[in-house]
Amino acid sequence: MHIVLVDTSRVVLKMIAALLEPNGHTVSVFTNSTEALDYVETTPSVRVLITSLEVRPLSGLELCWSARLLAESNRPLYVITMSSARNARNLAEALDSGADDFIEKPPGPEELHARLRAADRLTSMQGELIRLAQTDSLTGLLNRRAFLKRSHEAAERVGNHGKMSAILLDIDHFKRINDEYGHDVGDAAIQAVAREIGAEGIVGRLGGEEFGVILPHRPGTEAETLAGRLRRGIEALRIRGARAPIRLTCSFGVSDWIEGDTVEGLVKRADIALYEAKSTGRNRVVTATSDLILARAG
Ligand code: GH3
Ligand code: MG
Ligand code: MG
Repeated sequence: MHIVLVDTSRVVLKMIAALLEPNGHTVSVFTNSTEALDYVETTPSVRVLITSLEVRPLSGLELCWSARLLAESNRPLYVITMSSARNARNLAEALDSGADDFIEKPPGPEELHARLRAADRLTSMQGELIRLAQTDSLTGLLNRRAFLKRSHEAAERVGNHGKMSAILLDIDHFKRINDEYGHDVGDAAIQAVAREIGAEGIVGRLGGEEFGVILPHRPGTEAETLAGRLRRGIEALRIRGARAPIRLTCSFGVSDWIEGDTVEGLVKRADIALYEAKSTGRNRVVTATSDLILARAG
């Protein structure tokens, strides 16, 4: 596991790192707690934070709190506090501040390794639960909630004046596929479309047979090009049916980030364009121009 160790003494850090590294752990050591927190925040591979209570400039308890907030934003992180004074008050304070565990300083090797095995079990399970909560089980794509969450995070990085674009696509006459060939073939069709979409940008299954793609830092013209490519790729797919291979098509709506935009606005405009693609013949890409939005939203 990737472990971050925080203590004011380089000697203590060296000693604990020497216990951990031979067991295959990657250890990053810090004497400054703010630097440690920044590192944990920007390094998703960190699974365990071990900190002394007596650190600076953030105290060990403050560091626990901040690390706990990070863990709540959907990442597995196990926090262990260390103190040479193992009294009930220290222990309770640490646990109340968001620590998962408490060990004496310096820790004995057996105890330390056993605590880390517990940390490994718990963070593995957390990671798996987080993955399940974000994933659509039929396609392995992001589910609607995770798709929107990632898109919001991307929109924050893009900012008001940046570039970003969206594609919404929906399988045409999908109900017929279900009705004619059965639900299993319908499922296989959804999976085939998901594979065809690939992993360019943020990709999610938004509902039954509807998908979304967000392209951070890329203008609508690029989304249009990608949508055109996907449209042709999906048209060329052949799904295995009981008698003959089944063809299908999708309709596409494309929208472009405008100044002061929101993810909801961007997706809404792509949805209006998708609706237009459906009502003007299907198997088409329509871009949300301002005329179209005014006509449909007004
Ligand atoms: P349009 O071209 O206008 O999009 O027509 P459509 O038939 O594709 O759209 P409609 O919304 O009428 O039908 C969507 C169908 O998708 C209805 C629902 O039973 C089916 N569906 C939703 N989720 C799943 C799924 O996970 N598996 C399968 N096989 N079918 C699903
Ligand atoms: Mg449909
Ligand atoms: Mg639909």
